[in-house]
Amino acid sequence: MSLVFDAHPPAFVPVHNGGMFPVRRIFCVGKNYAEHVKEMGGDPKASSPVFFTKPADAIVVGGNDVPYPQATDNLHFEGELVVALGKGGRDLQSREDAGSLIFGTACGCDLTRRDLQHAAKKAGIPWDTAKGFDHSAPIGTIGRWQDFPPNDFDAAHLVTRVNDEVRQDAPLTSMIWTVPEIIIALSKFFELKSGDLIFTGTPEGVGPLVPGDKVAIEIGSLPPLRFSITET
Ligand code: MN
Repeated sequence: MSLVFDAHPPAFVPVHNGGMFPVRRIFCVGKNYAEHVKEMGGDPKASSPVFFTKPADAIVVGGNDVPYPQATDNLHFEGELVVALGKGGRDLQSREDAGSLIFGTACGCDLTRRDLQHAAKKAGIPWDTAKGFDHSAPIGTIGRWQDFPPNDFDAAHLVTRVNDEVRQDAPLTSMIWTVPEIIIALSKFFELKSGDLIFTGTPEGVGPLVPGDKVAIEIGSLPPLRFSITET
């Protein structure tokens, strides 16, 4: 096979205790914390899982800078738990089957061009330009499931700080859809495969970022995600 130009390398995310996780696809869940649905003007009781995607090369590995994106005046942070899949499957039925796909978890940020998202919602058009832009998926080091087991998350809070000020602080137990429920629901729409990442939604407290801001996202004992916003 002769490539007509060099193929772009895949995105990789470092794994705690060694190795790199090759990213295949990035799936995201919208409207997964009741208080965030309310702050965005929605009704949490009317919601079912909302799925959207980002391109795999939107990944920014933690510690690297994120350039302020073009075409927005309202870039928002959304701190999120990210689930990394080590196996694939489709049409999953049980929590056990869903759980068996999980390789590990990480702290992530679903960066959003909120002005474009509001315009898309109003016009009933897709969210791609609001969500799937370059550098829109910062992610921290992935912790393997065996090193950071599910029980560790029972009492864990997702905490987002901007310039050391706490902006989001919510228990993971306030998710509307649990991680296995998300995987089961997603597998009805897509055949999931190893290398897939799932951003599982953000709690209340989202807000704007400007160049110079320093963002830190922590979930329990997982390796924290840190990044800075720079001028374009
Ligand atoms: Mn989100």
